[in-house]
Amino acid sequence: MANTEVAQIPVTRLRGVGAQMAGKLEQLGITSIQDVLFHLPMRYQDRTRVTPIGSLQPGTEAVVEGEIMIADIAFGRRRSLVCRIQDGSGTLTLRFFHFSAAQRNNFRRGLRLRCYGELRHGSSGLEMYHPEYRSLDIEQPEPLEQCLTPVYPSTAGVSQARMRKLCAQALQILAKSELAELIPGHGGRGFGLAEAIRYLHTPPPNAPQQLIRDGRHPAQLRLALEELVAHNLSLEKLRRQQQAQGAPGMGAGTAAVEAFVRGLEFRLTGAQQRVIQEIRGDLCSGVPMLRLVQGDVGSGKTVVAACAALQAISAGYQVVIMAPTEILAEQHWGSFQDWFTPLNIEMVWFTGRLKGKQRQQTLAALAAGEVRLALGTHALFQDDVVFNRLGLVIVDEQHRFGVHQRLKLSDKAGSLTGRPHQLVMTATPIPRTLSMVAYADLDCSVIDELPPGRTPVQTLLVDNNRRQQVVERVQAACRSGRQAYWVCTLIEESDVLQAQAAEAASYELEQALDGVSIGLVHGRLKAAQKAEVMEQFKTGQIQLLVATTVIEVGVDIPNASLMIIENPERLGLAQLHQLRGRVGRGPETSHCVLLYQQPLGQQGKARLGAMRESNDGFLIAERDLALRGPGEVLGTRQTGLMEFRVADLRLHADLLPQVKQLAGELADGDTGRVDALIRRWLGSAERYAGV
Ligand code: ADP
Ligand code: MG
Repeated sequence: MANTEVAQIPVTRLRGVGAQMAGKLEQLGITSIQDVLFHLPMRYQDRTRVTPIGSLQPGTEAVVEGEIMIADIAFGRRRSLVCRIQDGSGTLTLRFFHFSAAQRNNFRRGLRLRCYGELRHGSSGLEMYHPEYRSLDIEQPEPLEQCLTPVYPSTAGVSQARMRKLCAQALQILAKSELAELIPGHGGRGFGLAEAIRYLHTPPPNAPQQLIRDGRHPAQLRLALEELVAHNLSLEKLRRQQQAQGAPGMGAGTAAVEAFVRGLEFRLTGAQQRVIQEIRGDLCSGVPMLRLVQGDVGSGKTVVAACAALQAISAGYQVVIMAPTEILAEQHWGSFQDWFTPLNIEMVWFTGRLKGKQRQQTLAALAAGEVRLALGTHALFQDDVVFNRLGLVIVDEQHRFGVHQRLKLSDKAGSLTGRPHQLVMTATPIPRTLSMVAYADLDCSVIDELPPGRTPVQTLLVDNNRRQQVVERVQAACRSGRQAYWVCTLIEESDVLQAQAAEAASYELEQALDGVSIGLVHGRLKAAQKAEVMEQFKTGQIQLLVATTVIEVGVDIPNASLMIIENPERLGLAQLHQLRGRVGRGPETSHCVLLYQQPLGQQGKARLGAMRESNDGFLIAERDLALRGPGEVLGTRQTGLMEFRVADLRLHADLLPQVKQLAGELADGDTGRVDALIRRWLGSAERYAGV
């Protein structure tokens, strides 16, 4: 066993781990000794000292020793076995609601017990319910624990005691095996890797527990740093692997883009022009573009995408554009038809609804290269979708797709030599700290300017018990020729329930509003029905659109200047900001009413307050990150993109500059070390970088 890396030793090497236990551990992501070591406690118990009964505090856990004064069954509301002990400084009641006759008989007067448990106020003063206990041999008392006792995160089917034994064994193996130090100078944290692991599983009695709970102990920082570095290196490696393959140069398309821009009905903003230039630089370079364009809601990303697409198409390549929802794909389809039909560019619209013969024909046309632009939803991922010369992949609203989905699309390149260029666009501004980690494989452009003539949206917080006033406000707005959205939210992501909630709201509003034409869209409608309602809203036939969050992204109707969001406390800030971005697109001052339901917690108040105070998506995203964590901000919980073993970006964002620097230094050095780091932390999870 000596000199073997702990990652290579299977967990079945531990005593007491057979096939069944191995299966349970695998559910926790634990298959090797290293995984056991990386499974860190979430808190500790102090069983290193005995507390005199007289100085016990309710709400704390403690070890207590005392002599039994009396033990009896109490018949209160619930029958219980009650055992009173004393140690000279005071008395304490141990209470058991479940007990055996043997247990009762064992509690003899004069017997000395050592107990561990949580203290609470009971009917007889301080009590412990169901403490762990054992009788004490006065001659030879068992020694107390030397270290704090770890409490591990929930361990489906593996008891805490079991987990502790496994970790103790793993630590013994660690002492005899290798865990190479891969971070130079321990990242300045004063702990080697093995040392940090040992410390966190078995901290000394005087360890600063609060610091550890906050995730800020140097041993934790040491581990988090290494994990983030490994993550960063894997993304960088992915990037280099792609770039090494080269990409088509698209300089031939530049003139066409310039003519297109001159023909637009509006002048591009400075920010749009700059980003278009950056993209052009990439497309002409012969190296695959890997670029993220971030721009707040309404900053005009679509036309930037159109310029990129046109550059590729005019240079002789195919382009695919993928949107996260059908409504958005449909809306893009409208814009691209307006822009590209006059240029005689063959386009197809590709969604899950495309079936049978039509689908076959479309696929054939894509494979043959007759069609130059395919626009659609994730249906484009399907295996039988292949291109002839796919030169550019554009993904709108990236935060809903993972790295792998992007790669999968760019694997469809057909006979192209090299890799297609990739352009990712997101309206959920991603805090810099986060994008450094989540998108380390992408270059970043920011459209930090809105087209002229926009007026900031005024946001109001209104308690739902003033709902009637809000309804009157909607009535007044519609009377004066404006349009409005009424957005219903639900916690459950069930289309059925959401649709029901929206139907109920629309019924209620129909009763309450006089002479206002109301439309309804939700995820259960057929796409054609949705499109029809949206069209009627666009042309003004519908004045009030009751909707679920399906309208979240991209919908663009300038005359709509009022939005009511019901139960905004249920949504993330980024999502609220997206929704709110549907108004404020015309010259009128727009309003967004957040119709919240009491009681709002402290955090709920802070979050909605942030919405009222700011229209800046980046600022709001930073707040959301601080309040809710990165998974929620990126919407990538399901893709596992931001799931770390130790690191937590809420606690460790300040490490990122150092992460970046260390990763840079390591990448310039020994590739063996880089691969070892990636293997150690991302392991078999090839989902990341195909290491
Ligand atoms: P987003 O960045 O949210 O995707 P869009 O691309 O949908 O924004 O653009 C929002 C609206 O602004 C569209 O109607 C678009 O035609 C318009 N627009 C884009 N750029 C400009 C500009 N430079 N000047 C005026 N209007 C613009
Ligand atoms: Mg958009």
